[in-house]
Amino acid sequence: MIDLLVAGGGPAGLATAVHAALAGLETVVVEPRHTPVDKACGEGVMPSGVRALAALGLDLPRGHPLRGIRYVREPDRAEAAFADGPGLGVRRTDLHAALARRAVEAGVRTVTGRVGDVAQDAGSVTAAGLRARWLVAADGLHSPLRRRLGLDAPVGGPRRYGQRRHYRMRPWTDFVEVHWAPAGEAYVTPVAEDLVGVAVLSAVRRGYDDHLVDFPALRARLTGPPANAVRGAGPLRRRARRRAAGRVLLVGDAAGYVDALTGEGVALALASAEAAVRCLTEGRPQDYDRRWRALSRRHRLLTHGLLACAGRPAGARLIVPAAARAPAVFRAAVRALS
Ligand SMILES: Cc1cc2nc3c(=O)[nH]c(=O)nc-3n(C[C@H](O)[C@H](O)[C@H](O)COP(=O)(O)OP(=O)(O)OC[C@H]3O[C@@H](n4cnc5c(N)ncnc54)[C@H](O)[C@@H]3O)c2cc1C
Repeated sequence: MIDLLVAGGGPAGLATAVHAALAGLETVVVEPRHTPVDKACGEGVMPSGVRALAALGLDLPRGHPLRGIRYVREPDRAEAAFADGPGLGVRRTDLHAALARRAVEAGVRTVTGRVGDVAQDAGSVTAAGLRARWLVAADGLHSPLRRRLGLDAPVGGPRRYGQRRHYRMRPWTDFVEVHWAPAGEAYVTPVAEDLVGVAVLSAVRRGYDDHLVDFPALRARLTGPPANAVRGAGPLRRRARRRAAGRVLLVGDAAGYVDALTGEGVALALASAEAAVRCLTEGRPQDYDRRWRALSRRHRLLTHGLLACAGRPAGARLIVPAAARAPAVFRAAVRALS
């Protein structure tokens, strides 16, 4: 019997596996896709996420340093630098490859496959033909395991979707820029010296280029050719009734997700991975749900608050002017996120 089986080899699953292997647990990751895995993502890793990657002993991919966050709704703009070191704009494929390499170095075994049925008893859990003491479900936003275990919780509010594409050009900024429009937001992340990612988030379902029409100032900036096809994801908001069921713990997006608007998914995925392994190695898996709520609370409150404003026509119009007029408040919010 192995110690830990991890379903899903995205950032959450690989970080869980590396932490577990470094703590001496025999760990196997089951992932259906081949390395490096790409995905619709804004690709801005917040400073806390960069620190969490460094703590895994990772050779950080080069990417593009991020100095802070800027909100734009012409003619208003508000910006604040991160207080505690830079964030990192990085292609998902580069991040995934670096995490996968680190997992191999740490002694993690990876199996190509998909985790389906799960059976558990008092001392073990069996899935994908493997028996383990514990299973971590890190199978993403739509987490088939969360559903199978009866942990899916209903979500309210508008269903929002995200799409992203890259442009082959020199970035004009080292900030993550969030551009606001009535129907949604577009956010820009420099991810390399010659590559800029633009993600659009909205409850309105239409094509990427139709969304971009709402952001004329941003469109004028996008002078380089599209570097790849559009990738999409959603609905974004997901809730779990709780983050543990018997010998299974949920980490990363599988544990619940509010929205991509605050760009914290990877940082939270890494933090939940670390917390889950700590709970297992301390012999206190029952603490994980409480620790997850504590580590994600600030992010959840901020993101829900922003979405509540953005969802009202007056709110969406006022967010950027209000942030520009109250720089100390905006700075505090950016620091809370970082
Ligand atoms: C449009 C958009 C923009 C975003 N922008 C940002 C941003 O700027 N910054 C940021 O930090 N975050 C951002 N995020 C969020 C971020 O992408 C996620 O929070 C992060 O990828 C979560 O990692 P994860 O490992 O939990 O899930 P994933 O990365 O989705 O990985 C889950 C893995 O599980 C595998 N899997 C699925 N089913 C099974 C199964 N049955 N068995 C085994 N494996 C399975 C999948 O193949 C996948 O590789 C954004 C998200 C979206 C949608």
